[in-house]
Amino acid sequence: MNTAYVSATYLLSCVLFILSIRGLASPETARRGNILGMLGMASAILVTIYSPVVGEYAWLFGAIAVGGIIGTWFALKVKMTALPQMIAAFNGLGGLSSVFIAAAEIISGSQTRLESSLGLLIGAVAFSGSVVAFAKLQGLMSPKAIIFPGQQLLNLILGLSVAALCVFFILSGRNDLFYILAGISVLLGFLLVLPIGGADMPVVISVLNAYSGWAAVGIGFSLNNVLLIIVGAIVGASGTILSYIMTKAMNRSLTSVMLGGFGAETHQSAKGGGEEKTAKAGNPQDAAFIMENASKVIIVPGYGTAVAQAQHVLKELAGDLRSLYDVDVKFAIHPVAGRMPGHMNVLLAEAGVPYEDIYALEEINREFASADVAYVIGANDITNPLARTDPNAPIYGMPILEVEKAKTVFFVKRSLASGYAGVENPLFFADNTIMLYGDAKKVTEEIVGTLERK
Ligand code: NDP
Repeated sequence: MNTAYVSATYLLSCVLFILSIRGLASPETARRGNILGMLGMASAILVTIYSPVVGEYAWLFGAIAVGGIIGTWFALKVKMTALPQMIAAFNGLGGLSSVFIAAAEIISGSQTRLESSLGLLIGAVAFSGSVVAFAKLQGLMSPKAIIFPGQQLLNLILGLSVAALCVFFILSGRNDLFYILAGISVLLGFLLVLPIGGADMPVVISVLNAYSGWAAVGIGFSLNNVLLIIVGAIVGASGTILSYIMTKAMNRSLTSVMLGGFGAETHQSAKGGGEEKTAKAGNPQDAAFIMENASKVIIVPGYGTAVAQAQHVLKELAGDLRSLYDVDVKFAIHPVAGRMPGHMNVLLAEAGVPYEDIYALEEINREFASADVAYVIGANDITNPLARTDPNAPIYGMPILEVEKAKTVFFVKRSLASGYAGVENPLFFADNTIMLYGDAKKVTEEIVGTLERK
């Protein structure tokens, strides 16, 4: 295939990727966006196979087969609740592939040392940072911030060393420096993500996603591949914008995030202060009675909704309350609810909850005061008022859903355990809170059963 056809197909792929990102911006068009993205990737792979630069087909098809089999296996096997760590793993693999391509370029004597070293540096940080993020999300290590004295200074020294080594590597022509650069960059990635606590993981995931994109841009320049440059820039820019949105949602600053260690100044969870506190427990029948007599119910889903797969029964609950008891029912979504950006939107969309019933934090917060019931299902950190009042809490500063303003707050969860950030939630002990202990799906099914039997 001649280069003009290759360039034209690359252009087509780029257009498809841009339309794909546009489609992914809304749940209504996300499926179409996904299909466009798949078409873009398929045409990019096909044209690359037939492009004149490819001479060794055995390696190419071998790699496609291995990657394709692993990817298909993951897509079929991984549970919805494990998607966040899968995303972290894929970000890491994106970074690692940039490292390998940069190494191949340098070994083959390429003169694009600036581009390769940038691809290597960013890719290595994305790789090792993603390994830590994966381990924290998978529960292989504690999600809490790991902090030691002099950490920020060490990061600063490593950052400056990497920059100096990059310059020296480019100017000196010494290839051995490449491996030292790779080693320090990998170490830096580990150290940047270690001090970040559970509550700040959403920002980390999107920052690492952006890093893997920018690494691909560096490699694209190194290989002189327009498609890689454009796609890398799309991933890098959209990841950066997502990071900005997540930092806004968490009330953090993007600069401190990009420099790493932004969670370091926060401390471990604030504990209850020693005094005996009791939480009132109710049962699904009580909850059904209060809800059927309510005028307005706001449902607040969190990570536990995903664990229990309670989204379908939540839709049923909303439908029954409306049709049988004329209750105004709304869904409230916190931007960091669950374990990945947009997690709850995906869940509710999967169950077919209409988009007009779903409200973002800033739209719904003013409505809790006029709500009779806040039905908080498998959510915890996103409602925790310590985010407003306790400067020592790792979630301090994060805007929360102000569920406590509702007349009655139901918390559906299995225990009084804290959420991902490890902070006890004082709302469990509030006068207007009733705990409904149990699995989110089972408890809601019982409420629905009671409502439908009447
Ligand atoms: P939380 O982790 O704060 O709370 C979830 C609660 O769900 C837990 O307290 C747990 O309590 C309960 N739960 C778990 N399984 C079930 C079940 N089967 N049935 C009923 N309840 C269940 O989640 P939130 O959504 O409130 O907050 C998200 C947290 O995760 C924030 O700290 C956020 O920063 C962080 N995070 C978010 C990411 C994102 O991108 N959205 C990424 C990474 C982290 P119990 O064990 O008692 O049942």
